Amino acid sequence: VVIPVRFGLPRADGSAEIPLPAAPGASQEEIRRQNLGAVLRYVHVHGPTSRAELTSQLGLNRSTIGALAADLAAGGLVTEETSTTATSTARRAGRPSLVVSPRSGRVYAHALSIEVDRIRAARVGLGGRILDLRETRRPRGMPALEAVGPLAGFVRDMEERADADDAICAGGGVAVSDTTRGGDGTIRLGGADEGVSSALGAELGDAPGFVIGDMADIAGLAEHIRGVAAGINDLVYLHGDLGVSAGIITGGRLVIGHRGRSGKVGHMVVNPDGLRCGCGSRGCWETEIGDAALLRHAGRSHPDTGHAGREPGERATVLEVLRAAARGDSTAAAAVHRVGDWLGFGVANLVNVINPDLVVFGGSLREVYAASAGVVRRRLDGMALPASREHVQLRVAALGRNAALVGAAELAFEQLLADPLNVGVAG
Ligand SMILES: [Zn+2]
Repeated sequence: VVIPVRFGLPRADGSAEIPLPAAPGASQEEIRRQNLGAVLRYVHVHGPTSRAELTSQLGLNRSTIGALAADLAAGGLVTEETSTTATSTARRAGRPSLVVSPRSGRVYAHALSIEVDRIRAARVGLGGRILDLRETRRPRGMPALEAVGPLAGFVRDMEERADADDAICAGGGVAVSDTTRGGDGTIRLGGADEGVSSALGAELGDAPGFVIGDMADIAGLAEHIRGVAAGINDLVYLHGDLGVSAGIITGGRLVIGHRGRSGKVGHMVVNPDGLRCGCGSRGCWETEIGDAALLRHAGRSHPDTGHAGREPGERATVLEVLRAAARGDSTAAAAVHRVGDWLGFGVANLVNVINPDLVVFGGSLREVYAASAGVVRRRLDGMALPASREHVQLRVAALGRNAALVGAAELAFEQLLADPLNVGVAG
């Protein structure tokens, strides 16, 4: 029996994805592994799904789906139940179809994030549910490596509270913001992730390894799988915190570059006569669209000038300017207009280069875009090539402050989804 092999997710618009032929010489075992992964991925992303719907969505025959679901259930990764609230597909089939659900309470990943102003850890169940969550403040200028101690403490604490007898830990993912502000107030870049993975390994002993990723990449991945970009395979996710960076997904794959250092769009030079940037260059995009630029144009002093580090006060001041602009305060409105114009300027360049279907504004850019959407669009209309402008959509991020954790868990689940019946058991 030749079982068709499917990769990735069906498109959100319902169009069939193109099945890739199995590699020449792919063994039955390999094909089975890929199909197990396809079924598990489907219920992980879409939630409880009837066998009938899996059959139609994945293009495998009914008995194959039945066998795959039974194997996943035997492996403790899913449950199968006759649903009393059967899905429409099951009703149409005329007889009850077993509903396959991810075992979110039992199968989980550790999701960690080292953000500009805080350190967070969660246990995220298969299916994307946050089961447990811890967080603490990241003091100003604290190197990412120093976050490892508190994070390891959170992981140990959450492990103790998990039902270890029965639990399956699929691994861990860490989202790291690589922009920090030094004690002198300057913004520093890069190197934040170095050593974090091995330090976590050293702290946590035999726990499954941690995959590290850039904050924008991981938040972008989360939006792609569970957020505003679900089902869209070509997108640019723009993340603003102290700096600006991008998670770029083309053809459904994250562009990561050498050692994960792609997407530093905040350092595109847009204004050669502009301000000196923390990276050493001049007139980088983030010097024109960052929070600091907005406050500068609005004539507000930076609340922590000379003290470094994002404080709640800085964020509050940014929101205050945005609210003042909405109320009609002319200075604030001019500042928002100016930042929005520069935002559109950079987005137009990215749209021309990458030709995405969607640009998502996340982190602090979420509010900035929401306040200046008209200006951004006008700039985009003027600068983007018609072939790229016609189809591209602009949206704000949907997952909010949990995007990094959700994405870090997705990174960790990748290994399980690639080979579902070959995972370590915790406890
Ligand atoms: Zn720069």
